[in-house]
Amino acid sequence: MASRKIEDLHPDLQPLCREFVRRCEAAGVTALITTTYRSGAEQDELYAQGRTKPGPRVTNARAGQSAHNAMIQGKPAARAFDVVPTIGGKPMWDAKHPHWQVMGKIGMELGLNWYGRPNAQFKEFPHFELAKGYQ
Ligand SMILES: [Zn+2]
Repeated sequence: MASRKIEDLHPDLQPLCREFVRRCEAAGVTALITTTYRSGAEQDELYAQGRTKPGPRVTNARAGQSAHNAMIQGKPAARAFDVVPTIGGKPMWDAKHPHWQVMGKIGMELGLNWYGRPNAQFKEFPHFELAKGYQ
């Protein structure tokens, strides 16, 4: 089971994530963090989905290649979090729902790399990543 703890994010991403959730809330969008850190074994499990295991393909990253796998000195320090808007307590997975654009705009205002942006190479609407340049 992947972590949902903000404490398992990169130290620079933690305050950005908290601010993201706060700004979403202020805009009337409840943002539920679904994944922060994911271990290498969990990443490989996910990679197998849609390839050697049933289900849709959800990632192109193997263990160690995802921003969710990042560590600093052996401790989780994920460089990305995944998030979904909830409506009436239920996740809204349909990325056409307007709340996704609200979240994306807020994330980009905070300087995060949103994989749902129009020119994203690999579309992954829930994924917000720490920009390059952070150590
Ligand atoms: Zn992600």
